[in-house]
Amino acid sequence: MWGLVRSGVAPDHPKIKTVAKVFEKVAAEPNFRLFGNIEIGKDIDIEDLTSRYDAVVMCTGSSIGRKLGIPGEDLPGSLSAAEFVPWYNGHPDYSNLDVDLSGTTAVVIGAGNVAMDCARMLAVDPFELDSTDTADHALAKFHTSTIRKVYIAGRRGVEHAAFTAPELRDLPKLEHTDVHIDATQVSEAHARAEAAGEIEKHLASNLEAWRSLAEHPKSGHDRSMEFRFLSAPKEIKGNGKVEEVIFGINKIDNGKVVDTGERYSIPCSLVISAIGYQAAPINGIHFHNGIIENEAGRVLGTNIYTVGWAKRGPSGVIGTNKSDASDVVNLILEDLKEPKATMDIAMLIPSDHQIIDQASWSKINAAEVAAGEPLGKPRVKEVSWAKLLSLGLN
Ligand code: NAP
Repeated sequence: MWGLVRSGVAPDHPKIKTVAKVFEKVAAEPNFRLFGNIEIGKDIDIEDLTSRYDAVVMCTGSSIGRKLGIPGEDLPGSLSAAEFVPWYNGHPDYSNLDVDLSGTTAVVIGAGNVAMDCARMLAVDPFELDSTDTADHALAKFHTSTIRKVYIAGRRGVEHAAFTAPELRDLPKLEHTDVHIDATQVSEAHARAEAAGEIEKHLASNLEAWRSLAEHPKSGHDRSMEFRFLSAPKEIKGNGKVEEVIFGINKIDNGKVVDTGERYSIPCSLVISAIGYQAAPINGIHFHNGIIENEAGRVLGTNIYTVGWAKRGPSGVIGTNKSDASDVVNLILEDLKEPKATMDIAMLIPSDHQIIDQASWSKINAAEVAAGEPLGKPRVKEVSWAKLLSLGLN
């Protein structure tokens, strides 16, 4: 429930979660009904919906982490952001994930905002997370963590990084963590971007953020984050668990990324790969290249539509997906001819299966918020399915 807002957005970025207010407004509409705790393809078939409703919109996102495809990726201590993020966000499916923070160094692979979230969560002083809705089990682990150095590795140049400028500009504000980026890598990236033609606004803003990060005075904190660019992961090595990552050093030659053949190693005990996602399969829905097969949001020959990451792939911030959703709503309005009588899908669900409707969700929400109040947190998330469902009954 609440998908990304609950299980994806970093707990130290509460402002991003205010989009939930839009959900609440929609939920207050008299013709809105919520049927939660129902899995398509398991509790109900897609045909049950398509035969009874005018339009079925799949907004199921991308929840599977892409694989690096390098040796050692499956060693204990090597995790995907698709596991680590829902773990610290209290998703019940991940609350028992084995996250070992007993080493000193972690490596995050990928140069996008998800990598940035993972690195920040590992590198900040856990006291900064005490007032957030980080899951209790994760907060306890962060408090005993001995990780002090977090590397973020991008395989291309600084100018190619997918981080957005607001995320970069937030880094110097970290109070207990020094953030390092090699000033030479930044000026070389700037020179390459200039040589390639006029620098567009978004890149100029990112390069400026990098320059100011490089120049930002370091305080000598024992916690640090360090960006390494032109570093392509080649192998994760270790005897029964992660002990080092071997990187190939790339260079940019005439705008192309080229392997120099040189290698270096970062000894570490934890690797998080944050290199993108793909959609999880759903019975009865055709997928192609990690997304639902569709044309501009229409699943051709059906009354199924799709929006967001399930439609386009795992890119774009929440705002991108909001406008994407309204485009698809317009398509539906265009396609709607004679509306069918609305059916109640509750009729299709066995009576002993607990449906979380809006009233049940409000109870869960109120209980979590009330648990957070005395602790100065927005909420304390319940991380067991059984307890979550029982909160919906009270
Ligand atoms: P992303 O922005 O697409 O970044 C993925 C990164 O992984 C890229 O740097 C990519 O490098 C790298 N990569 C891919 N394959 C690789 C490989 N085999 N080896 C090494 N590196 C590899 O994806 P994301 O970080 O998952 O974010 C998804 C979307 O959510 C983005 O639009 C992001 O802005 C958004 N998001 C926003 C926020 C926020 O607003 N605060 C927070 C989290 C996520 P190449 O470019 O070289 O392929």
